[in-house]
Amino acid sequence: MLKNTIPETHKCTVNRRRNLHMKKLLSLVMAAMMLFSLSAVATAEDEAGFDEFELGVEGEQEVGFMTMAMVYFQPVDMAPVDQATAKENTDLHIEVDLTANENGYAFPVDQWVPYLTIDFVIKDTEGKEVTSGSMMPMAASDGPHYGNNIKLADGEYSITLYIKSPAENGYLLHVDSETGVDAKDGFWTEPLEATWTGWKFVKQW
Ligand SMILES: [Zn+2]
Repeated sequence: MLKNTIPETHKCTVNRRRNLHMKKLLSLVMAAMMLFSLSAVATAEDEAGFDEFELGVEGEQEVGFMTMAMVYFQPVDMAPVDQATAKENTDLHIEVDLTANENGYAFPVDQWVPYLTIDFVIKDTEGKEVTSGSMMPMAASDGPHYGNNIKLADGEYSITLYIKSPAENGYLLHVDSETGVDAKDGFWTEPLEATWTGWKFVKQW
């Protein structure tokens, strides 16, 4: 079966969140594997698993105290089901992979950061808004992330994220001298922003 012939290097993409930097090392291999996987999709459809694509030309970006990267692939089934974001009603699944760097909030370094609200706006090349929404917190087999299924026609786009602080979701910080975190002034108050551009989306599943 085709599924069993997919080499180990390709299977590494499933563990992408374990080490964002590993992706850089694998990028050449990935490029080579792309040809193989596209033909696998064409001939085996569901049996080929999934192929993940990087979104935009920027790659990883430092946003506040976090390192972020965006990827997308075919829409997925999520529970509980929301009709607006159900697999049948959308075109792709989009994910923000993020890990904490050194920070004053005591979030563990190299780990996912909970309690964020991440809104997004997608624009076309003329700067006109095409769609918007929120990246929801969720877990896949390789761990937690923010993402969503969205509806989108083929085209070239930019996507801007607006990352609101955990305080807006009721997350507290110790601020006394005995047990407090370093960042005693608390979280950021204006959303952090990051934009990925030159995203050529072609639905290929
Ligand atoms: Zn997801």
